[in-house]
Amino acid sequence: MPINSTARTIPRAIPRAIPQPISPPGPFSAVHLRRQSTSSQGQPPLAVLPTGALLRSLLTNCVASKPWLQRPVLAVLARLAAIDSGNWFSVDRNPLLHAVLKTTFYRQFCAGETPSETRETLRALKAMGFGGSILTYARETVFDHRTGAQRAFTDGNRVDDDEHIAVWRRGTLDTVDLLGPNDLLALKLTGAGPGVTGAFAAGENPPAAMWAAVEAICDRCEERNVRILVDAESQHYQAGIQKMTLELMRKYNRNRPALVYNTYQAYLKATPATLATHLVAAAQDGFTLGLKLVRGAYLATDPRALIHDTKADTDAAYNAIAQGALRRHLGDFGGDNALKPFPAVDLFLAGHNRVSVMTAYELHRSRRLAGLPTVRLGFAQLHGMSDELSFDLLQRTRGNFNEKPGLDFQEPDVYKCSNWGTVGECLAYLTRRAIENRDAITRTHDEYSALKAEARRRILAGWQPSPRRGKVWDI
Ligand SMILES: Cc1cc2nc3c(=O)[nH]c(=O)nc-3n(C[C@H](O)[C@H](O)[C@H](O)COP(=O)(O)OP(=O)(O)OC[C@H]3O[C@@H](n4cnc5c(N)ncnc54)[C@H](O)[C@@H]3O)c2cc1C
Repeated sequence: MPINSTARTIPRAIPRAIPQPISPPGPFSAVHLRRQSTSSQGQPPLAVLPTGALLRSLLTNCVASKPWLQRPVLAVLARLAAIDSGNWFSVDRNPLLHAVLKTTFYRQFCAGETPSETRETLRALKAMGFGGSILTYARETVFDHRTGAQRAFTDGNRVDDDEHIAVWRRGTLDTVDLLGPNDLLALKLTGAGPGVTGAFAAGENPPAAMWAAVEAICDRCEERNVRILVDAESQHYQAGIQKMTLELMRKYNRNRPALVYNTYQAYLKATPATLATHLVAAAQDGFTLGLKLVRGAYLATDPRALIHDTKADTDAAYNAIAQGALRRHLGDFGGDNALKPFPAVDLFLAGHNRVSVMTAYELHRSRRLAGLPTVRLGFAQLHGMSDELSFDLLQRTRGNFNEKPGLDFQEPDVYKCSNWGTVGECLAYLTRRAIENRDAITRTHDEYSALKAEARRRILAGWQPSPRRGKVWDI
């Protein structure tokens, strides 16, 4: 059966020319979409997780799957995020609050408060088999459309725009120095302060100091062979962020694999049109489009009218873009009767949705095995989330490595994406993760069940956790 023979009706928000997603996946459904309970070595994917990380994951998933626990935790996180960093109840000043948050949610989702803590986490991730790490410097500004307020982490003293940019530039360059070849930097441009976010919101060019900072960061990444994922943030700033990222792709991705990736939020009704504009630019100006695809994380604060009405529409939009890129056929670009040639595209699929991830993985693999054209592919999940999916992908990509000797079969790399910064700097990020786990009820329950099954397995086996236990993820 050909892989696209199971395609369904195109959902209303997707332009007709974009190929239809495969869902449910035809030839692979029985074998490959199923949760992989054991590997070829007879180990379940979560066997790799050290005991400390397993217990912490059990705790956070227990909170996320119980509304009576999750509601007060979310309220406390939101309250703490609103407290100014100069206040004694700020998590960076109050030792008790700091200790409680640091040992629970912070450690579950973040890499470290200092370079040495962060380095240790990245080392531990690599020891577990990840191809590399994605690291973000946590400073950011979030705009809440409902209240019209923007929330940024500041130390309460700095007022000068250039000083904000300088602090962000230093923090981001320090982040790059923690990374090595095959790692990626995730860049939150709104962390550079009010001068930059004001320009983004007004549709103006950011200050010259910001351009200089961003180019210095890109140059340093290029030297260290570190790729850059520019994050998509609140809609209020997105037009400015996209404009700047497009310029960076034009400059740094010319005639080479993507150094810079732009992030496309599939939940936005406008994303297929934005992507089409960027494909035109890539084709005309001869650069590789770095396409990082996410569903979108600002559902709680962005204007609802801009976002697909249902989760099913968002899922269909995500799958259509992912699978279209893998077939090198998106809208009018590529395909058998292409009106426009498909430009060079490197694809990065960020997400925890097993159906989307595994369908894309199988489509890529089947095209490679059949000698059909496709694009370079990477996968990423967030640190502390969907570990079972990440380890399952790792087992599959490693297991298939020598599947077809003689064929240049480059398996996609699998990454974990982590934030570093003080607990206070990471609070907005932690709040988004809590909201996301609350909203993705089925996924959270599935994850919780898998974690409980792994804990049960270890108890029955006389509590024999990972052979690599000890320091791995137990920072
Ligand atoms: C490595 C990595 C990097 C990321 N970078 C970014 C980034 O730069 N910018 C960003 O915004 N997000 C980013 N995210 C977060 C991402 O957008 C999602 O919030 C998160 O991954 C959950 O979506 P999912 O595909 O994993 O899982 P799922 O559980 O399948 O989807 C949950 C998502 O579906 C969407 N959704 C839920 N309900 C509805 C509804 N009623 N209508 C419409 N849509 C709905 C929301 O986007 C929600 O987050 C990143 C995620 C990862 C793993």
